[in-house]
Amino acid sequence: MKKYQDHFFKKAKQEQYPARSVYKLKEIHNQFKFFTRGQRVLDLGAAPGSWTLYAAEQVGPTGVVLGVDLQETSTGFPPQVIFLQDDVFEPSPVLQELLQIHSPFDVIISDMAPRTTGVKFADQARSHDLCLAALALARSHLVHGGRFVVKVFMGPDSKALQMDMQQSFKTVKIHKPKSSRSESKEIFYVGLDFQGAPV
Ligand code: SAM
Repeated sequence: MKKYQDHFFKKAKQEQYPARSVYKLKEIHNQFKFFTRGQRVLDLGAAPGSWTLYAAEQVGPTGVVLGVDLQETSTGFPPQVIFLQDDVFEPSPVLQELLQIHSPFDVIISDMAPRTTGVKFADQARSHDLCLAALALARSHLVHGGRFVVKVFMGPDSKALQMDMQQSFKTVKIHKPKSSRSESKEIFYVGLDFQGAPV
């Protein structure tokens, strides 16, 4: 299995993506085809920037990708990318303004992950909180019919999250990318056809 992981690591280097995680998004996109030219995309947990770069390639120069992360990145992005160091739990006034300017987004993607503590339940709970923060942003800033991709660490709250998403999306699919580490508990929920926040 190690060889398989090295393969994605090397491939990312060759193709000039800063992280191997880009292949997870590519796989998800190959299946669900949610990006098109000119779209507005919100990328949560964007550093170091491989999802942002891929989204920027897909939407092209007429699109916009707003990438947000707690951490800075030194990755060079094309002009359609705005990268902001910020916290989804406490959006700064700058982030709030950018969200207003660029809303509604056609696609919102979240690869956010907490800094792991090694305590399984604590890590799962923190990941769940990040998923809820991403879903709340999707409910406020996604266009009707829009798409939402969120990384989930499978745990006791995952089913509740799926049901919560089903209240806002016509379809919620589950995807486990081949390029995820086999031992990883991560899966992705893909919400298709946004219907609005539940009343
Ligand atoms: N998608 C990225 C890429 O392809 O380069 C990799 C993302 S990495 C797996 C997860 C990111 O989530 C980390 O960079 C982390 O800083 C970010 N993150 C965690 N908590 C966050 C929060 N509260 N607000 C914003 N970003 C957060």
